[in-house]
Amino acid sequence: MKTLLVGEYREGKLLDSTYELFGFAGQMGAETALLLVGSDAHLPAYGGTLYLADAAACGEYRPDLHKKLVLEAVQKENPDYIVFVHSSYGWDLAPRVAAALKVAQISEVMALADGGFEVGCCNAKMRRSVKPATNRAVVTIQAGAFPALQPGGSPTIQRLAADGGSTVEFVGYEAAEKKDVDLGKAEIIVSAGRGIGKKDNVSVIAALAAAFGGELGASRPVVDAGWVEHSHQVGTTGQTVSPKLYIACGISGAIQHLAGMKKSDFIVAINKDKDAPIGEIADVLVVADVMQFVPALTAKVAK
Ligand SMILES: Cc1cc2nc3c(=O)[nH]c(=O)nc-3n(C[C@H](O)[C@H](O)[C@H](O)COP(=O)(O)OP(=O)(O)OC[C@H]3O[C@@H](n4cnc5c(N)ncnc54)[C@H](O)[C@@H]3O)c2cc1C
Repeated sequence: MKTLLVGEYREGKLLDSTYELFGFAGQMGAETALLLVGSDAHLPAYGGTLYLADAAACGEYRPDLHKKLVLEAVQKENPDYIVFVHSSYGWDLAPRVAAALKVAQISEVMALADGGFEVGCCNAKMRRSVKPATNRAVVTIQAGAFPALQPGGSPTIQRLAADGGSTVEFVGYEAAEKKDVDLGKAEIIVSAGRGIGKKDNVSVIAALAAAFGGELGASRPVVDAGWVEHSHQVGTTGQTVSPKLYIACGISGAIQHLAGMKKSDFIVAINKDKDAPIGEIADVLVVADVMQFVPALTAKVAK
């Protein structure tokens, strides 16, 4: 089985998520070839075939042009799967490639499942298992769902040239609004999840964060409900953090949250459900009512 992995550059640098494509291919037990629209200055340590197009000529984001490059590599490589990260780049480009090849597209793969794939559904509350009904398929993988693998070695480069123009002009990136809190630098983060119950209880979680001299984090439902500002959100659509201590209060451990915090050195989860998925990555799972346990812990820490 062969995969063509399509990595991603941002402002001239290879994105780390590219290595998760190798994690996916590793779990599939598949051979790999890699395609990058990037530059010689930032190439991954990878000992296989690398189809390389120059981002200076092709732009970092011109999906119709990039589609042609992917199709050229597909013709040369004849892969069973063409794999993207489920990023704004991947979810724009992948369907164009699938439509051009007239093959199945499976989006936001979270895990492999018995000859097929698990994908999220019902706002990621459930998973469904699907299999491509075509011999070849285009797949996007959820960020954080597969381990980042650094294959090592030096690539055999096959250069691809941009052929023709694009209907999309890439204008540039716009920096996100300045955040009032930089969770990326925090050594201790105490995060509030939906399990805290109501907005008024945020102060209880914030008090524990303050007692530790840390920062307040939050899961997405807490932010969506307007209980906490988005700048505190941890996860794929929030910040990626790696503190020394991460305390998850009433957070179930959905993959989009885990993607943002699983690199924390030590993870404590407080959850009334002993089978909550966050228990799988937590160093300590405290099975308790968060609104009883956290004030007691805060009082101890503050002493
Ligand atoms: C495209 C996309 C992007 C997303 N991006 C993000 C993201 O960046 N960050 C993010 O967090 N999510 C994100 N999500 C949402 C994600 O899928 C989950 O829905 C979310 O993480 C769940 O948040 P939660 O754990 O706080 O809530 P829930 O999943 O509802 O879990 C609540 C937990 O609290 C526990 N609980 C309830 N009451 C108590 C109590 N009294 N004491 C102790 N425990 C209690 C429950 O047992 C449960 O485990 C995204 C989803 C999608 C589709």
